[in-house]
Amino acid sequence: MDFNYDVIIAGAGIGGKILGLKTARAGYSTLLIDMKPREKIGLKVCGDGISASYFDTVGISKPQGEELSAVIHSSEVISPDRKHRLVVRGEGYTIDRLKFEQRLLNDALRNGAELMDSTSVIRPIIKNNEVRGLVVKNLETGEIKEITSRVTVDATGQASAVRLRLPDEMIIEKYIDRFDIAAAYRDIVAFDEEPEWGKDSIYIYLSHKYAPGGYTWIFPKGKLIANIGLGVQPIKDAPTPVKLLKKFYEDWRITPSKIIHTGGGFVPVRRPLSQIALNGLILVGDAASQANPLHGGGMGHAMIAAHIAAMVINDRLESKEGVLSIDDLWPYAVEYMRTDGAKNAALEIIRILLQGFTDDEINFIMKEKIVSGEELYEIESKPKESSSVWSKIIRAVMHGKFGLLNRLRIARDLYSKMHEAFEQYPEKPSDLPAWHERVNKIVGQAREKLWRNPIEHTYRK
Ligand SMILES: Cc1cc2nc3c(=O)[nH]c(=O)nc-3n(C[C@H](O)[C@H](O)[C@H](O)COP(=O)(O)OP(=O)(O)OC[C@H]3O[C@@H](n4cnc5c(N)ncnc54)[C@H](O)[C@@H]3O)c2cc1C
Repeated sequence: MDFNYDVIIAGAGIGGKILGLKTARAGYSTLLIDMKPREKIGLKVCGDGISASYFDTVGISKPQGEELSAVIHSSEVISPDRKHRLVVRGEGYTIDRLKFEQRLLNDALRNGAELMDSTSVIRPIIKNNEVRGLVVKNLETGEIKEITSRVTVDATGQASAVRLRLPDEMIIEKYIDRFDIAAAYRDIVAFDEEPEWGKDSIYIYLSHKYAPGGYTWIFPKGKLIANIGLGVQPIKDAPTPVKLLKKFYEDWRITPSKIIHTGGGFVPVRRPLSQIALNGLILVGDAASQANPLHGGGMGHAMIAAHIAAMVINDRLESKEGVLSIDDLWPYAVEYMRTDGAKNAALEIIRILLQGFTDDEINFIMKEKIVSGEELYEIESKPKESSSVWSKIIRAVMHGKFGLLNRLRIARDLYSKMHEAFEQYPEKPSDLPAWHERVNKIVGQAREKLWRNPIEHTYRK
């Protein structure tokens, strides 16, 4: 059977371009498809913050020149009453996302990838239970055509244009619950005079009053520009993010001289989807729910997943013929889920725990220094080594509030169970249903025992 391409990637976002760069560089015919016109690819509403660590792992050069807005050395987490701060050290950047992504696009094209821009992915082509390419529509001419490939990638971000059009029997988990989405809104603003905050830190303000079930951020982009926004859990009766951001400006007396750009979007903030490899198809980035559930940062995770996926695809394209099967692509799922995916999955428990804390409880935890910045970093990035941190936290509240202590104990238990489950992601697709069930049980317990409605405990107390 002849195919138009070895690899077709739906969505030329961050994940799609890294993958396309790597399959094209390995010599495989690669097509990137995006609904945006070429010059707008990468124009995405974002907080623009990314940790430095991803670039070396994935093997691409760090943002520089016009792509780089500011070098960041730490994150400061601010308590709801604004009296306490946790400082988490770590190198990172705020970037000009369009310029950064245009560089990635040029790199992919220079290495031989092709681009079909202003083209919308309509649905996958499915034959004999395998994906064999995509049906696409040119948004300028209206022309619809079929393009075939040996492997197809859904990298269309939150839109998940391929995944959502799969028949139910092909994938174990297709939909993302609204409970697990962050509705985010942000402005890029300019100031006439330098604001009071430091320019080499980013600021995360935890308060359900301003961001129920989420947080508000200030990410400096140089001396006189900042990215200011918030993400909320879109639950019933939650005020709109636009209203909340306005209130935040008023109460914090933030008075920009100019709004450069404004906009919103959604990020899935949960464990990765259980199935990210199928016959002829893999899911990467937000389409696979790979963003960090705690803060919604997803650029770096999409890069890591794309990097792992490209290694597996390149290897299998070399050694197999025809459409790559689920067994061929499964090593991508195993490698991703057991590493980056396991860390993110454990963080879903922390997200649910935080959503259940009242502002008063967060004030208490930060005032009493129950957790330090370094310890928070350990919980976020080194789940395996964090058991002594958990013991210390639990000891510190032992004589404090009983309800809080109980929830922390449950969270510690579920956090390590979730991490362990992902580290044991099944070797074979046939073991997936039992594993999926196991993970769902852990999530169900977290929701039942840790989550409390932020609207109830903040606005209706
Ligand atoms: C307000 C906000 C703030 C954020 N802040 C941060 C942050 O500070 N740091 C961070 O790391 N992450 C942040 N994120 C999350 C981050 O943007 C995503 O996790 C990341 O972009 C995921 O990359 P991706 O490649 O999976 O998808 P995307 O970057 O979303 O790329 C998907 C691509 O697919 C294309 N596409 C979609 N549908 C179709 C279709 N039907 N046909 C053809 N093309 C299609 C789109 O045009 C797009 O180019 C934020 C998100 C939001 C909404």
